[in-house]
Amino acid sequence: MIHDLHSHSTASDGVLSPQDLVARAALHGVDVLALTDHDELRGLVAAANAAVEHGIELVNGVEISVSWAGRTVHIVGLRVDPENPDLRDGLAVNRSGRMERASKMAHSLAGVGIPGTLEGARLLATNQELIGRSHFARYLVGKGYVKDVKTVFKKFLVRGKPGYVPHQWAGMAEAVAWIRRAGGVAVLAHPGRYEMGKEKLSLLMAEFKDVGGVGLEVVTGSHPPEMVPIFAAHAVHFGFYASVGSDFHAPGEGGRELGRLAPLPDRCRPIWEHW
Ligand code: AMP
Ligand code: MN
Ligand code: MN
Ligand code: MN
Repeated sequence: MIHDLHSHSTASDGVLSPQDLVARAALHGVDVLALTDHDELRGLVAAANAAVEHGIELVNGVEISVSWAGRTVHIVGLRVDPENPDLRDGLAVNRSGRMERASKMAHSLAGVGIPGTLEGARLLATNQELIGRSHFARYLVGKGYVKDVKTVFKKFLVRGKPGYVPHQWAGMAEAVAWIRRAGGVAVLAHPGRYEMGKEKLSLLMAEFKDVGGVGLEVVTGSHPPEMVPIFAAHAVHFGFYASVGSDFHAPGEGGRELGRLAPLPDRCRPIWEHW
């Protein structure tokens, strides 16, 4: 059984509609797919219908943006009830700051001689409540300012670079509580991507566990394969279930393909055994 428990559609910053995403997952042999759009649930109904059509299982998911100790971290919720009011209201608040942030990002980019990025990003975003850095990145690539999306995230849109705007997202305990109230399980996404020292990362995992988090993404397209054994050990140490997901956004954008994931190390307990 191939599980891919982290992916994005046009409901956030992916480029495939929920239907096309599910079709592609089925084509790549995925048996169980979670759609985990950023701060958004609106793709789930269409994805669930498509999953029935393609004979695969769709897990209702979400990826919540969280501010923790001055950093942004991502918490994935799996098997959430998309109708739960606490989750829906919380996500709506998280989304509400994005347009103002996008204006500030555009202003910052204009300051280094790159005009028109707000309009550009808006045109690339299907969901106008969910304008994010990926839309800006694709616009910069499309206009020829930068050769690819990966390079954009080295030269722009990250701390210390043009286009970066600090932002206050939900708190970690808050986000985990929304997920739990919606009947879901909370997973700390791509732990290897956070630029923090070992001690701070351990503190993050300990606090996540404390507030009710149960899973750690051990295998992900968003941290390198060399980190799998490291986070497998952390999962065992902290008593987390291990999750697996491509974090797929777009064909040919440099991220991992749907379902193309290394197996979990034997010592990990897969999160789907907890369901
Ligand atoms: P936002 O929620 O608007 O801050 O955008 C975050 C999104 O930007 C992530 O979910 C990724 O899709 C994308 N992103 C962040 N860092 C990178 C990176 N180094 N390479 C490619 N995409 C990235
Ligand atoms: Mn994304
Ligand atoms: Mn993420
Ligand atoms: Mn993601």
